[in-house]
Amino acid sequence: MPEFKAPLRDIRFVRDEVLNYPEHYATMPGCEDATPDMVNAILEEGAKFCEQVLAPLNLTGDEEGCKWSTKGVTTPSGFKEAYKQYVEGGWPSLAHEPEYGGQGLPESLGLVLSEMVGEANWSWGMYPGLSHGAMNTLSAHGTEEQKQVYMTKLISGEWTGTMCLTEPHCGSDLGLLRCKADPNSDGSYRISGTKIFISAGEHDLADNIVHIVLARLPDAPAGTKGISLFIVPKWLPNGQGEPGERNAVQCGSIEHKMGIHGNSTCVMNFDEATGYLIGPANKGLNCMFTFMNTARLGTGLQGLAHTEVAFQGALAYAKDRLQMRSLSGPKAPDKPADPIIVHPDIRRMIMTIKSFAEGNRALAYYAAKLVDVAKLSPDAEARNEAEQLLSFITPIAKAFMTEVGFEAANLGLQVYGGHGYIREWGMEQNVRDCRIALLYEGTTGIQALDLLGRKVLMTQGEALKCFTKVVHKFCQANVDVEDLQEFIEPLAELNKEWGDITLKVGMAAMQNRDEVGAAAVDYLMYSGYACLAYFWADMARVALEKLNAGTTEESYYTAKVKTARFYFKRILPRTQTHKAAILSGADNLMEIAEDEFGVE
Ligand SMILES: Cc1cc2nc3c(=O)[nH]c(=O)nc-3n(C[C@H](O)[C@H](O)[C@H](O)COP(=O)(O)OP(=O)(O)OC[C@H]3O[C@@H](n4cnc5c(N)ncnc54)[C@H](O)[C@@H]3O)c2cc1C
Repeated sequence: MPEFKAPLRDIRFVRDEVLNYPEHYATMPGCEDATPDMVNAILEEGAKFCEQVLAPLNLTGDEEGCKWSTKGVTTPSGFKEAYKQYVEGGWPSLAHEPEYGGQGLPESLGLVLSEMVGEANWSWGMYPGLSHGAMNTLSAHGTEEQKQVYMTKLISGEWTGTMCLTEPHCGSDLGLLRCKADPNSDGSYRISGTKIFISAGEHDLADNIVHIVLARLPDAPAGTKGISLFIVPKWLPNGQGEPGERNAVQCGSIEHKMGIHGNSTCVMNFDEATGYLIGPANKGLNCMFTFMNTARLGTGLQGLAHTEVAFQGALAYAKDRLQMRSLSGPKAPDKPADPIIVHPDIRRMIMTIKSFAEGNRALAYYAAKLVDVAKLSPDAEARNEAEQLLSFITPIAKAFMTEVGFEAANLGLQVYGGHGYIREWGMEQNVRDCRIALLYEGTTGIQALDLLGRKVLMTQGEALKCFTKVVHKFCQANVDVEDLQEFIEPLAELNKEWGDITLKVGMAAMQNRDEVGAAAVDYLMYSGYACLAYFWADMARVALEKLNAGTTEESYYTAKVKTARFYFKRILPRTQTHKAAILSGADNLMEIAEDEFGVE
């Protein structure tokens, strides 16, 4: 396994050259502190921490895993020390409010750090990652007192957070949730029930764990309209805000699972634990959406992280491994065989991974910029537009980036041949660790229903139009740029087709609601490939401008244009398979009766 190198050049290309972050930070109120020098220093220091501290713990963390006993959970060797260094470096506070001890830097900058942390060691990164979601929920819905007590400790990193939704009988369908919250006379609640699969639910990294828990009040309506949100700390804060009495929440066991072994996945038993309501009663799910949107984008980043790891590993191996000769004649005649990178099929795999890594990075940073605008812009119209775009992009970022991330992780393993299947190279761990990203934070199927059903069809296509308008403007602006036409023409065609397909699905859905479910995942994947086509065309535009103006980095920018070309010629045609599947309708899925499937 080659040593992990944070992809700083590509991070800067997307942020500085394609999405123009320096101007965004200079003009957006609240982002002034993110000067180019400050951003550079953070990227450099963050990269060093990820490369030198976190990456070396990735393989050992997988092999050792977390250990549970009745006393608690022990994380793999080195995790605790790395977390201490992370806290001492002030990293948890980077993108949070100064009133509670944060550094007040933009959320979009925090996301770059999360990407690098995730690439170096996803399992470790989940511990602070879940805290971010908890902080965002408290920031949006907590009372001032709750913020003073909990936000300050989460921001400093002394405490960590969790997200407790799932129960044994309820995962995607939170309306089935049973966990109870009975009121106490002092305004607090007694929380009872069992939550399963709780990431970072118990560990030895921090002094306290703040669980954000969904539960039902006694008189709550059935279904999703009767769910409330609570803070349930492991240790109840005393008068000084320090961990005091032990609360009645215990980790009953941890799961033995396919990957992310360094992260504890816990069964959490709440036995009349003391909890405090966040936000209005019965509006817990609305409040949780704040948490979930950040978490969804964060999980999308997991797809990107495993893609980058696959790329770095596959490229290094393919240049080094000698097998057979090139079909068009020896390329390394002085060696017993050619390096496998000469073979077209190896290039197919590496180029696929590369086009996903760089395309998805652009998608993620685009979404991150929208997060800043939606939160900070003084212009109500700009905020509203950013929110609409973000709500459209979020399910795509979550599900598409993880689906193709898993494909990339698999291809990374394939480039290594049989050695990819052997643990020491890290590629099989990358596949195992990646797999969960398609499941948690809402499966691909659930994200797809959210995109097509809730976002696109329920707005009569308005959510889609928000994005296709951006693409349309881009195509118009570049209609005369000759050397960009190989990208602009197919992009403009696709942009129109996207709307046409949506209209057809909408019409079909008016006759039969199953048409939505039948089309949803293909629609989401089609949308993901279409989004990446836009970002690749934009990256090609920047690269061509640099090349035409003359640059010392000719090979860097030439590679961008060539990767864009590969993407348009070899990956984008996948949209046509998805289109055919979407338009084939629901009958071919639904006409087979349950007892006709074949097995007794
Ligand atoms: C390692 C790990 C860590 C996790 N961390 C957390 C955590 O920190 N906090 C937390 O609360 N949860 C966590 N989860 C739980 C995770 O979010 C759920 O597993 C996930 O939401 C799916 O729920 P489920 O497993 O009950 O599957 P189900 O909801 O039972 O789904 C089964 C299948 O049915 C499909 N399906 C369900 N409903 C529909 C529908 N209407 N239309 C189409 N298809 C549908 C799903 O897509 C899926 O393919 C974690 C899970 C794991 C494995």
